[in-house]
Amino acid sequence: MGYFATQVSNRPVTERTHLKIEPGIVVSFHYTLRNEEGNELETSRGSDPSIYLHGAKNVIPGLESAMTGRGVGDVFTASVPPEQGYGMRNPERVQRVPVKHLLFKGKLEAGKVVQLNTSEGKRSVTVIKAGRHSADIDANHPLAGQALTFDIEIVDLRPATQEEMAHRHAHGPGGHQH
Ligand code: ZN
Repeated sequence: MGYFATQVSNRPVTERTHLKIEPGIVVSFHYTLRNEEGNELETSRGSDPSIYLHGAKNVIPGLESAMTGRGVGDVFTASVPPEQGYGMRNPERVQRVPVKHLLFKGKLEAGKVVQLNTSEGKRSVTVIKAGRHSADIDANHPLAGQALTFDIEIVDLRPATQEEMAHRHAHGPGGHQH
């Protein structure tokens, strides 16, 4: 066992450290997402890091701009206002729809997230009030209108493959599998 046996990566150190986040880089990162009240909504801690292709609008704009220029090992907090996140709430996206247009398992009740069949495909919506034949649903993104805070750690960076650039998303564990 030589001195370098503690080097866990089989890639050269220079390759790991010289890359900065810019369009065409696949970013591997850990995050913890909190709302305005400081409550944790989601975290990647305890599972594999998330990955995305930078510059392809695969993450919300506020997160993508906070990532730009960062390097491996960087730890930072990104504060994202609603207009740079999931947008403002649109009251017109609260609607009454026939129950037969909803796809769900179990009991239809307030707070449940179900699939709504629309002319543009299926969309996740939140049930506000359920009746026998119709339901009031909210088609706004659950995080619309919220100021969000992301605690980020950049775990790894690599150049995207040609295939990833063509598909406009990252492949492999944490990314698209196909
Ligand atoms: Zn793909």
